Amino acid sequence: MENNIKVVFATGNLHKLQEVNDISKGSGIEFILPPDGFNPVENGTDFAQNSYIKAKEAARLSGQISLADDSGLCVEALNGEPGIHSARYAPTAQERIDKLLKNLAYSDNRKAKFVCVMTLVDENGNILTQEIGECNGKITTKQTGTNGFGYDPVFLVDGYDITMAEMSEDLKNSVSHRFAALTKILNYLKQTQGA
Ligand code: IMP
Repeated sequence: MENNIKVVFATGNLHKLQEVNDISKGSGIEFILPPDGFNPVENGTDFAQNSYIKAKEAARLSGQISLADDSGLCVEALNGEPGIHSARYAPTAQERIDKLLKNLAYSDNRKAKFVCVMTLVDENGNILTQEIGECNGKITTKQTGTNGFGYDPVFLVDGYDITMAEMSEDLKNSVSHRFAALTKILNYLKQTQGA
């Protein structure tokens, strides 16, 4: 890991950090947590704005090239909700799942997608590139599986009959919205930073 290029990953979510480092394994890039005091105000109106807010704040605190992931679950029958409010839909992870299943209880349309917008900024907070990744699927009627985090136990990826929380880490990391966005970021870093 010694010769890796280190990029600050603008999050407090250790699951996300683990996933981006697993996806990046062997790429020559290592993602590290931002300095203490990282607490951006996510007052944007879409994933792209919130992603930029987080990346800029991480660069301001660290003085280093920084990457942010703003992501969430968009449910068709709920007009795209919880969307950018995914992390704040209810107080705890279990309550967020319960609220989602309750709000969809009488809906035949279970279509949903995970969206991830990643923003890479330089040490001064200027945008280098912004990429989007999506993962299409459906919301189950009950939760299954214990891997992953967030809404994984109620999300069936199209083409699979297990939830994201029943997938191995490697499988999730090869089909997820995060994988789709990060692959483009890694290509950018390879071309521009010699990673
Ligand atoms: P953020 O940290 O503000 O981007 O909030 C992202 C929220 O979206 C998380 O707290 C989860 O609720 C949800 N989310 C994003 N990505 C995933 C995922 O890979 N699996 C399950 N839930 C996710």
